[in-house]
Amino acid sequence: MSLKIKKKIAIFWFRRDLRLHDNAGLYYALRSGYPIIPLFIFDKNILDDLDNKKDSRLTFIYQALEAMRKELQANGSDILVKYGFPLEVWKTLSDEYDIAEVYTNTDYEPYATERDREVFKIVKEKGTVFKSCKDQVIFEKREILTGQNSPYTVFTPYSRSWKDKANDFYLSSYPNKKYFKHFLKWKGTSIPSLPEMGFEKVEDGFPSDEVSTSLLQNYHDQRDFPALEATSRIGIHLRFGTVSIRELAREAKKNSSTFLNELIWRDFYQQILSNFPHVGTGKAFRSAYDHIKWRYDKDDFKKWCEGKTGYPLVDAGMRQLNEIGFMHNRVRMVTASFLSKHLLIDWRWGEAYFAEKLLDYDLAANNGGWQWAAGSGTDAAPYFRIFNPTAQAERFDPKGEYIKKWVPEIGTNEYPEPMVDHKMARERCLKVYKEALDQK
Ligand code: FAD
Repeated sequence: MSLKIKKKIAIFWFRRDLRLHDNAGLYYALRSGYPIIPLFIFDKNILDDLDNKKDSRLTFIYQALEAMRKELQANGSDILVKYGFPLEVWKTLSDEYDIAEVYTNTDYEPYATERDREVFKIVKEKGTVFKSCKDQVIFEKREILTGQNSPYTVFTPYSRSWKDKANDFYLSSYPNKKYFKHFLKWKGTSIPSLPEMGFEKVEDGFPSDEVSTSLLQNYHDQRDFPALEATSRIGIHLRFGTVSIRELAREAKKNSSTFLNELIWRDFYQQILSNFPHVGTGKAFRSAYDHIKWRYDKDDFKKWCEGKTGYPLVDAGMRQLNEIGFMHNRVRMVTASFLSKHLLIDWRWGEAYFAEKLLDYDLAANNGGWQWAAGSGTDAAPYFRIFNPTAQAERFDPKGEYIKKWVPEIGTNEYPEPMVDHKMARERCLKVYKEALDQK
């Protein structure tokens, strides 16, 4: 339905940046001199691939849109929400409105990059300018390079350069609110409901978007112990942009260098994805690892997915993931290592399973984490260093509290025997990896 707006406007297109404050692309849009229509598209290309119709990430997005809509309406404006294939939506919008400029924030994933290239072409036909801004990271693409002008592939020197460069200029917030009067004054149509798009609303509470100072102060000492719940759970908010990375990085700089380091890991993997896009299309960062003869054993994979491996820390992690869409970082490392090394199952199966289940799923970080665990990635643990899941449990869950919480039948007859012997699995992994790597 056309809204019959005759004047020249600019559109700000929300994607993974669902907030009105400290939003770079929106800031530049609001200062463009044109009245702004904010737009969000429920992308059929993405939604059609989601098998779980109760995927709570859809509810999260929906709630974020409703919150923005409320704020926009309080300012006499509104948001335009479409459901469809983005290229078709943009063709229609280009015909319906006189669009001078389109603003958005860059998404570095391969699908998004290609989609934006096509949208750019569509709007250009009508003389519309397409502007993509940096917002979801502090440093993007080739902003941090080695002395040889190449992207870093090792974290520690990258993080040093990152910290040297991250001054107030990069960490300050965009004062969007000052320019809210430039939103177009209009009344939008309703947001398509989740059932209309084939999904169900989920009642689960989501993690808070606040990170307390005390959590940051204890983070260094406590973050590795999954029973303590001492990490921020801010991942989902960073994923969908309901918090600003600049605000969070400033808090981290003040209160916890260890937490700041984790945010730098996030930037690191985003720049890896931009500069080495093959990692986002199913390839190993180090190509030699694509020669590994994986076992594509569906029964073993199922046991891992369901948390029935007989290794308590692995099982606790997988059940936590299945039940609440979250898994503690230490346990992500252990479960990922177990699948790729103990079971010798292709890490891409595990990567896809995490992608389906994690509320904070992010292609760059997930892929980085999986390739790290499988040994094929940047900065990877050498392949011959194989986590012992029993020793990891003794060290990081010494009282077994995390395990008991997620695997209540532990210690009874109902709990399965280990599905593989650690020593056998370790030797098998070393042999198969070595054969593949010797081929290079
Ligand atoms: P906190 O410990 O409170 O950290 C704060 C934020 O820093 C996180 O929310 C995240 O944005 C960032 N961060 C922390 N550690 C990392 C890291 N190693 N790499 C990149 N960013 C990091 N993180 C995701 O955001 N999405 C994923 O899909 C994802 N998949 C992973 C898969 C594997 C196999 C592994 C080993 C790690 C993965 N991580 C992923 C990284 C990390 O486990 C999560 O970011 C973290 O556990 C999220 O919990 P939190 O928000 O409480 O993190």
